[in-house]
Amino acid sequence: MTNTASADIRITDLIAHPLTQTLPRPTVTSWGTYSEVSIVLVEIRTDAGIVGVGETLARFAPKAYAEAIETLLKPRLVGQNPTDISALWRSMRRALSGRSGGMLFEAIAGVDIALWDILGKVANMPIHRLLGGMGRTEVPCYAASVNWGDDPFMERELDRYLEKGFPRIKVKVANPVKEACRRIGHLRKRAGDDIDLCVDANWAYSLEEAVEVGRALTDNNYFWFEEPLRPEDEAGYEELHRRCATPLAAGESNYTLDQAMRLVSNRTLSYIQPDVARSGGITETRRMAEFAAAHDVQYAPHIGMSGIICETASVHLAAAMPNIKAMECETDESAFKTAITGTTPGADRQKNGMLPVPTGPGLGVEVDWDAVKRLRVQ
Ligand SMILES: [Mg+2]
Repeated sequence: MTNTASADIRITDLIAHPLTQTLPRPTVTSWGTYSEVSIVLVEIRTDAGIVGVGETLARFAPKAYAEAIETLLKPRLVGQNPTDISALWRSMRRALSGRSGGMLFEAIAGVDIALWDILGKVANMPIHRLLGGMGRTEVPCYAASVNWGDDPFMERELDRYLEKGFPRIKVKVANPVKEACRRIGHLRKRAGDDIDLCVDANWAYSLEEAVEVGRALTDNNYFWFEEPLRPEDEAGYEELHRRCATPLAAGESNYTLDQAMRLVSNRTLSYIQPDVARSGGITETRRMAEFAAAHDVQYAPHIGMSGIICETASVHLAAAMPNIKAMECETDESAFKTAITGTTPGADRQKNGMLPVPTGPGLGVEVDWDAVKRLRVQ
């Protein structure tokens, strides 16, 4: 395929595949226990025979997301040139006349990733090179996560990641606060001083509770405190930043750059964590990461319980952004990775906390469409 082909390539069809799986091992956070999780895989076909794939974050009700993608977005895409990504993004955004956010932006994310996959295949280049490239062949990652539980459970979780050679490990914290503070100290002792530890609270705390947990984190040299408060409480984050010496991390709940702008521009956050399958895809996530770079805030991609397309798109972004800290690396088996592309969990591909960057055109991922059919919600 030569570059001249991009001049007249057209989108012929778009299919949104709602997928669900029962997790082999539940994820336990301050929100509760996830034993089942969903995504939507977006397939975009073109008249050049090139197919692009994307992923939408759709933890629940994936059929509703698929319906939104096919009824709201598909009519804006069929017949258009898939390499006009910025124009198509603006057109999709206009499917909603109100403020940005919610399911529509997660839907746009899946489509946008698929468009970048097509662009890479047309150009015969990996996406991280199309983004400008930093010459990286691998990117730093961290183990996610030591799930919340009693001491023996959390010790086993921690040991698993230490055995895999992760130099950076994330721990889930929840309530009660005193118990969280004690476990923060307990896990630090067990991990030793050479391992970088951070925590994720998934909005578990009030401001005063977060201040108390923050003291334990500072005393035990944790490198970030993720989502201590609900994401809308920007004034709360600013006050916590004044009262907590441990750097703050957030952003997985943001849909657009606008929603990240205040806490990045005033440097309340030290780390911004957009999820490419939620934050409007590669196009908008790149804007957020570059805005952060301009404010000396580091970028740490969120992956959560997503599939291989989200993970791979995040690796490309991590490879191309100047301010990468480390990307989340899931450590458990997931059919959204193993079945769809035959890929092992990131934890088995990383070495010393570094994940290899794909070299093939576009995302560099081959999808097993029979597996997609098997995982599809009927
Ligand atoms: Mg988180």
